[in-house]
Amino acid sequence: MAGLRRDPLSNHWVILAPERKRKPNVANRKKTSPAPESTHPLCPFCPGNEHFTNPSIYQNSGDSKNWQVRVFANKVPALRIEGSLEKKGEGMYDYINGIGAHELIVNSNYHAISLAQIPLQNFQNLLSAYQMRIKDLYNDHRLLSFQIFHNHGIETGAFYDHSLSQIIASPALPQPANQLIGSMRDHFLQKQRCLVCDILRENQDSRKRIVLENDDFLVFAPYASRFPFELQLTPKWHQHDFALLPENKLNALAQIFQESLIRLHYALDNPSFQFFIHSTPNPHRLSMLEKGESLPIFFHWYIEIIPRLQSAVGIDTLNGTYINPYLPEEIAPFLKNINIMEHYLPK
Ligand SMILES: [Zn+2]
Ligand SMILES: [Zn+2]
Repeated sequence: MAGLRRDPLSNHWVILAPERKRKPNVANRKKTSPAPESTHPLCPFCPGNEHFTNPSIYQNSGDSKNWQVRVFANKVPALRIEGSLEKKGEGMYDYINGIGAHELIVNSNYHAISLAQIPLQNFQNLLSAYQMRIKDLYNDHRLLSFQIFHNHGIETGAFYDHSLSQIIASPALPQPANQLIGSMRDHFLQKQRCLVCDILRENQDSRKRIVLENDDFLVFAPYASRFPFELQLTPKWHQHDFALLPENKLNALAQIFQESLIRLHYALDNPSFQFFIHSTPNPHRLSMLEKGESLPIFFHWYIEIIPRLQSAVGIDTLNGTYINPYLPEEIAPFLKNINIMEHYLPK
């Protein structure tokens, strides 16, 4: 029977309606992933073609041709770092000029390869590149929020075959980030406990929605999942800033993160998906958001992974109502028990 569940982080309601369940439409998908090509002569993101893009801001190797991960400013940026910040009212509306940063990250030196398929060390270098860029952008005190995300597959609007991530640093705080901070702050004010630590404890106690776990991280299907096969990856100890994750934990994160993507890859036959890292706003700008409580105490970073299954069955309305026919309590054991041949696991 259908029921409504509320997500304590984003405050959305989802209607979980298992009777609407039908098989995700994978009929038109490629049955196997495209064979990874090492390079493509015309791809601007392949090694050797760096001159097609803006110069590197960061690459994981000093050798100009031997990098695995490379970052540069988007040629057609949504926001630009040059200039000075201008805020004004336009009638009753608020306006900020387009100051910010919009960076592209080439996730791998391999062309047309999914993050489920790259070497584990490459995945770890990618996470490390996110950290480096965010820490550098923190130094620009005009910037308030940082969005780190990746889109894979046509259902997410990903345009290129070469796997990319993006960082958008903005002087404004998007509404979902504002909601998230508010939920965590209110929970802390009421209970003197971190909301995400409470969610972790609940999931570890019930064990019904856990997909993967290691000493430091937990991956689970959220109680109020908006989309089929949605996952949340969370550090098991309290930490507010993804950029502060110590280097000796990055390998454990890369391992469990990539295994989550591999399990989705095999369960859903290379699905389109997105992930998004929810972490602290600029540490130099926290006082305006804290309202008397220290953000590092009440905020806890996590990663949201969302497969986008075309016509798959979920409904997402513009007013924030979602209908999901897949119970997270069914998704979690399915993904956990899916038989993945040993050689596909992260290495
Ligand atoms: Zn390429
Ligand atoms: Zn916490």
